[in-house]
Amino acid sequence: SSILSNVLPAPEDPVLSVIFACRDDPCPVKLNLIAGAYRTEEGKPLVLEVVRRAEQQLANDLSCDKGYLPIDGLADFNKLSAKLILGDDSHAMEDNRVVTIQCLSGTGSLRVGAEFLAKHHEQRVVFVPNPTWGNHPFIFTLAGLCVEYFRYYDPQTRGLDFEGMLEDLGAAPSGAIVVLQSCAHNPTGIDPTLEQWEKIRQIVRSKGLLPFFDNAYQRLVSIMKSNMPLFNLNFHGFATGNLDSDAQSVCMFVADGGECLIAQSFAKNMGLYGERIGALTIVCTSKDVARKVHSQVLLVVRPMYLSPPIHGASIVTAILKNSDMYKDWTIELKGMADRIISMRQQLYEAIQARGTPGDWSHIIKQIGMFSFTGLNEKQVRWLAKEYHIYMTYDGRISIASLSSKTVPQLADAIHAAVT
Ligand code: PLP
Repeated sequence: SSILSNVLPAPEDPVLSVIFACRDDPCPVKLNLIAGAYRTEEGKPLVLEVVRRAEQQLANDLSCDKGYLPIDGLADFNKLSAKLILGDDSHAMEDNRVVTIQCLSGTGSLRVGAEFLAKHHEQRVVFVPNPTWGNHPFIFTLAGLCVEYFRYYDPQTRGLDFEGMLEDLGAAPSGAIVVLQSCAHNPTGIDPTLEQWEKIRQIVRSKGLLPFFDNAYQRLVSIMKSNMPLFNLNFHGFATGNLDSDAQSVCMFVADGGECLIAQSFAKNMGLYGERIGALTIVCTSKDVARKVHSQVLLVVRPMYLSPPIHGASIVTAILKNSDMYKDWTIELKGMADRIISMRQQLYEAIQARGTPGDWSHIIKQIGMFSFTGLNEKQVRWLAKEYHIYMTYDGRISIASLSSKTVPQLADAIHAAVT
């Protein structure tokens, strides 16, 4: 008899079930628009040239070994990651009140932060946007926190429900944790403006809420929005202070001297998805608090995975600490961003050209790797069945997975679904 025979199958997960449906679809022209992973015009994953170079460099450096990293990871990586988000001239870093530890990509950083808060923060409620990235509720619930939602998206305007958001945050209990996506909100592609961020900051601080930033797409959006020549824009980290507008939401909260947590990922912006490389930063109010927090975060990590992996951290460190490689990273990032923008434009134009009913301008207004199309679950299921096109049931498509070849296929399908 089996000891494990009483294990019940996991309840069906709507995201996993669409991933499996796509995987098992034998149709040769099926279109997978589910995952937020960049693909080339040929539909292939992309390894950045600068990442290849960093790996060569590491392979040739005989002083690089494969030993254990400390519990909190590679020290240089931690410092450079904190600088990337807080800027070169961060007072919080100068005051030694910033704790950064290398974690397993964005997800691992969120989870370590959530476990730390569940153990050391009295208020057990965490507010996440409605809607949000599907893993947020799992991460925080499993850590032992109680997940609630604040209003974020208004389906009527296909924009931010800013009044609703402020109202809900204003009604949150003091000390509640608030998850804020610093840029390229997943799944809606809608971010607050800087003026709106300032109002959010005021309400978060006046209510004594604890902001936890999820920073999964840093630099992708600022590069998309920027018409400035590349070389004026991106030397944040190299003496010009923080010019990266994707980091501004976070920096506003850090500049006021208050506390916050930040989960960073290098999956999307360096294409290091499978390396699982990211960082958790906790900005504290004093050096003394930071010392205590650091000691407790180590206690969260040690029984979980002892110490993080070395390879991805070494790649990121090599790129961030060398000005030539940093510059090359920026150029390649710009290439990815430009292709995504071009896919948005092409999809919008293709839908317009078909005379599809409705206003589809949100496709070009939204930002980041995804578009929240406005298609409903019934339409999404129909597209999978009739057109072999797969997206999440909330109608979110990965723009980064489209190509000039597949745009007409998607536009035809959307046209058929809504007419
Ligand atoms: N947070 C958000 C908002 C995301 O969209 C994602 C990935 O899609 C993540 C975090 C986690 O990414 P990773 O763990 O691969 O860094």
